[in-house]
Amino acid sequence: MEEKEKNIPDELFLDQTLRPGAWEEYIGQESIKQNLKILLQAAEERNHPAEHILFYGPPGLGKTTLAHLIAKETGRQIKITSGPAIEKVGDLASILTNLSPGDIIFIDEIHRLNKMVEEVLYPAMESGVLDIIIGKGPSARTIQLDLPPFTLVAATTRIALLSAPLRSRFSGGVFRLEFYNEEEIMKIIGRSAKILGINIDKGGIDEIAKRARFTPRTANYFLKRCRDYAQVHKKDLDKKTVFMALSLLGIDELGLSESDRNVLKVIIEKFGGGPVGLNTIAAATSEEESTIEEVVEPYLIQRGLLERTPRGRVATQKAYDHLSFDHPDGEMHQNKLIH
Ligand code: ADP
Repeated sequence: MEEKEKNIPDELFLDQTLRPGAWEEYIGQESIKQNLKILLQAAEERNHPAEHILFYGPPGLGKTTLAHLIAKETGRQIKITSGPAIEKVGDLASILTNLSPGDIIFIDEIHRLNKMVEEVLYPAMESGVLDIIIGKGPSARTIQLDLPPFTLVAATTRIALLSAPLRSRFSGGVFRLEFYNEEEIMKIIGRSAKILGINIDKGGIDEIAKRARFTPRTANYFLKRCRDYAQVHKKDLDKKTVFMALSLLGIDELGLSESDRNVLKVIIEKFGGGPVGLNTIAAATSEEESTIEEVVEPYLIQRGLLERTPRGRVATQKAYDHLSFDHPDGEMHQNKLIH
């Protein structure tokens, strides 16, 4: 185990070190935790693996962590894979036929599963069987294999891309992870600082929490970068040091990065504040559409800087204020006054 850990990149290793290993350490998402505990205990009492579970929400909110927690708290083995890693039906077949009874299989980015694999997954989830076609053409025949009982836990950042039939097979529940509040993020930073042996005062924690996009992964990342800054500049890790370190990373007081600001700027400067379509924004900012939709947009919406309308994205008054642009309505008003 130790040998293996030496080979994992620093970021990944730290991510694993900081990953909560018990329900009490998993901060926030109270309603999801309560529902999961009931689901798992009821299944345990019936001596049956829990039904399949789907988590969705922006990256870094704790979906993978929940999958690991479910395995740990129920004493089950967990096999980890992802939508893009299961390229062929054979890949899925080999994962499923190698499960032991009661195992958990975690599929991250399940929206990227291809249609053929998805078709094979349905009967596996619903009836615990694997339909495999052997041979080609008229002599092809289907054989059916019984699978050991298992629980599928899946995660996605793009629930809208999941087909209705796939979604409906998560009979244990479909759970949406919410952004955390500042208090929860402060607790997470405090816990991480303790684990990593980082000396940070309350003001420092507070300042990171304000800019951490309400997201645990971002909070942990900022904490580590601020620690580096404090170490190199031989400073205490307080509010001022955090301010300097995060400013250097281009993170502003609302937690926006350069690319977040760029998206808003493009909407305001090039498209009169919107509405403008996602693909147009992507082309104008040279960002991937998926990055804008999965990472940038949810936070801007949460902060009230952007709105999604049926005709496209619109920058709000708050976005104009934050970036110090005059709102067109304000200008019109001024013009009217002049005439
Ligand atoms: P996702 O799968 O949603 O992208 P992860 O489960 O990988 O997110 O979480 C990223 C990191 O954030 C974890 O390694 C963990 O350190 C931290 N984290 C996530 N959720 C929590 C939580 N509720 N409490 C404490 N730390 C958390």
